[in-house]
Amino acid sequence: MSKEYEIIMGLETHVRIKSNTKMFCSCANALELAPEPNIHVCPVCMAFPGQLPVLSEWVIDLAVRASHALRSKVEKTSIFDRKSYFYPDLPMGYQITQLYHPIADGGQVQTMVDGEVKTFRIHHMHIENDAGKLIHVSGKTLCDYNRAGSPLMEIVTEPDFRSKSDVIAYLEEIQKLMRWCGSSDADMEKWQLRCDVNISVREKGEATFRNRVELKNINSFSSIGRAIDVEYARQIEIYESGGSIDQETRGWNDEKWFSTPLRSKEDAMDYRYFPDPDLPPLVLTEAYITKREIDELPIDRRLKYLNEYKLSSDDARILASDHVTSDFYEKLVQITNDPKKSCSYITTILFSIFDSHHEKIGLSDIQDRTDEIAEVIRLVNTDELSSTNSKIVIEKLVFEWGKTDDWVDTLGLRQKNDLSALEAIVDQVLTGSTSQVTEYKSGKINLFWFFVGQCMKLSQGQWNPKIFTEILNKKLS
Ligand SMILES: [Zn+2]
Repeated sequence: MSKEYEIIMGLETHVRIKSNTKMFCSCANALELAPEPNIHVCPVCMAFPGQLPVLSEWVIDLAVRASHALRSKVEKTSIFDRKSYFYPDLPMGYQITQLYHPIADGGQVQTMVDGEVKTFRIHHMHIENDAGKLIHVSGKTLCDYNRAGSPLMEIVTEPDFRSKSDVIAYLEEIQKLMRWCGSSDADMEKWQLRCDVNISVREKGEATFRNRVELKNINSFSSIGRAIDVEYARQIEIYESGGSIDQETRGWNDEKWFSTPLRSKEDAMDYRYFPDPDLPPLVLTEAYITKREIDELPIDRRLKYLNEYKLSSDDARILASDHVTSDFYEKLVQITNDPKKSCSYITTILFSIFDSHHEKIGLSDIQDRTDEIAEVIRLVNTDELSSTNSKIVIEKLVFEWGKTDDWVDTLGLRQKNDLSALEAIVDQVLTGSTSQVTEYKSGKINLFWFFVGQCMKLSQGQWNPKIFTEILNKKLS
């Protein structure tokens, strides 16, 4: 009988902080790939003797915001430690990190996995500086230190993940959260978001965890899924054949779809951690911490759109995906009090206008136009503007600005709904077409559309054809 296994995973995610400088010097932060290697370096990040690190305030500001987004407790005192190891990508011979007293403790990330709300616990988040990059070409190794000293946050979770969907949903939420609080663009392709996955497998029902393997070098959402599948199968195969798993670190090779051991527990490095004597403890005031709090997160808004506004899960996800879209929607709903129509005017009409336009344009370009878009929705709801014509007005508002009411009148799109005035027009048409009325009454029912046409003509097309139809139906019956 084959045994049933389950996978248990914890994540260590590195996020590049979006400050303009490196963590301890004024060199440009490696947010984008620099045009040349080794152009953003200075005596501090290259560890020249006698140089002292100066902590960037910007880095701390963004790290505190990110901690709030992770619903972590921001520590008033955190301490920088030296993690020593010798490798050509590390000019100082040690990395400055926070081992014993990290800046953020605990926390959680909520997200939706396959339509269900799940909570993943955060163990802690610490800040540290990055190493340089080694490039191996034709038997030689080249060092690029543009990235050395750039600020990173390392977010460490509890072992709460049970499937690759869990992992991918969490990482997508981390990406949203970091963009939401402005701490990072968290773009995986630009190495602003990297992830190591700790994986262990056990038989279902077991209470303790077995040895885990840390998978490194995973750098895209799709390769994470592949790496997890392959490692899960590898561990089960070893257990099934009577073997055991060593606690080790393995590197994922995404081209060949397998991992190779980097180091085992036995040769785990001794990093000789100790507090950095060049850096005093980081002390934050209560006021500094609370000033950077964040009330609503993307998941809070997404759940509100789903549960209160009754939007579809796709619409809720799209509208809560980033600050610009979500704030635009919130503002629109505040004015229209119509969550459904406000949603469709963004997700169908505005987005299709943006898509069909050759220049890059988006909601951020029309952030101040919510009043006018809301007016379009009001006119449609009061039958003064047909929904087909509303698209024309929205296009005008997007590309030529101006006011909704002016466009509706200039383009002659206002439908008039004053019943007595409409009745007067119908009467005028019917008295002027007595012979057609007789023919209609004797069975030529197609003439009905002749009367509607006459009414539209007389009203210069500005009146609501739906109401004309109703009145004509009543008068001709
Ligand atoms: Zn520097």
